[in-house]
Amino acid sequence: KGMFLPSAKVFCRCRPLNKEEISAASATVVDFDAAKNGDLGILTSSSTKKIFKFDRVYSPKDDQVDVFADASPLVISVLDGYNVCIFAYGQTGTGKTFTMEGTEQKRGVNYRTLEQLFEIAKERSETSTYNISVSVLEVYNEQIRDLLATSPTSKKLEIKQSSEGFHHVPGIVEAKVDNIKDVWNVLQAGSNARAVGSNNVNEHSSRSHCMLCIMVKAKNLINGECTKSKLWLVDLAGSERLARTEAQGERLKEAQNINRSLSALGDVIYALATKSSHIPYRNSKLTHLLQDSLGGDSKTLMFVQISPSERDLSETLSSLNFATRVR
Ligand code: ADP
Ligand code: MG
Repeated sequence: KGMFLPSAKVFCRCRPLNKEEISAASATVVDFDAAKNGDLGILTSSSTKKIFKFDRVYSPKDDQVDVFADASPLVISVLDGYNVCIFAYGQTGTGKTFTMEGTEQKRGVNYRTLEQLFEIAKERSETSTYNISVSVLEVYNEQIRDLLATSPTSKKLEIKQSSEGFHHVPGIVEAKVDNIKDVWNVLQAGSNARAVGSNNVNEHSSRSHCMLCIMVKAKNLINGECTKSKLWLVDLAGSERLARTEAQGERLKEAQNINRSLSALGDVIYALATKSSHIPYRNSKLTHLLQDSLGGDSKTLMFVQISPSERDLSETLSSLNFATRVR
């Protein structure tokens, strides 16, 4: 485990066939026979099966509770002073937003994380106090947008480094959340703001990175020690390659920015894994924002999201190869 980056885990999650695929009787290329061991089989042709190894493999039968149960130890470590980063990678339509955000009935990692942080904070209230706040950002075309800002600002948001070495974005909203009731409203506000100013919400969100940052200030009441740590929860832009016919104008620029930032993410992880002397965090807004939570003694979890359908085979292989490099 941790062949490349010891502190990174990779979970692979496959969505169910959708209605359209079921009615078209689409063929499936995924094999979950050895999913319990973290092995995912992909039928690359009628006679060949390729095995990919992960820390966990989730079939469409696994639900939000199953997935969060495995992510939970990692998110808790933010209360112990670790910086953590969890991101969902994959082609558009494979369930990145479903895993991270979820729906009102089937809430995802973002909500469950905050729910659990509050629970544990309460359990530990005799020995520690915690101050929790959240920011919600979007990175689109290498520009940062504050999704919790109540009034639009024309000022460009930039990443700065504090004297303590922390990376932050001066001027963004850091909403203090005191209980789980506050949380759903804050997350919904962020999610709704994503739609503002775009004529196609789904298209826009597939071309931007949506980033939830949970900041924790902890004070140990016994020894007086204070720690500050950060947990990033990132719903990445779709990893699919652009069709040749679409490769022009604004769409081309978007695609180039997505490619650049996703490869920058891969490059950073690779540089960390191979203990390179230079880690190229600054090659994209995405990696620059995540700098404190990638590498060092921080903890990383990547969900690689895939489609079961034969139609998506080449994108699926490309996502699995990216994820294998991380692991
Ligand atoms: P992405 O964010 O990667 O573009 P979505 O999260 O929007 O993909 O998922 C596409 C569709 O598939 C949504 O309707 C979503 O509810 C559904 N879906 C994805 N993953 C699952 C899953 N594991 N179980 C049930 N439905 C899913
Ligand atoms: Mg999405």
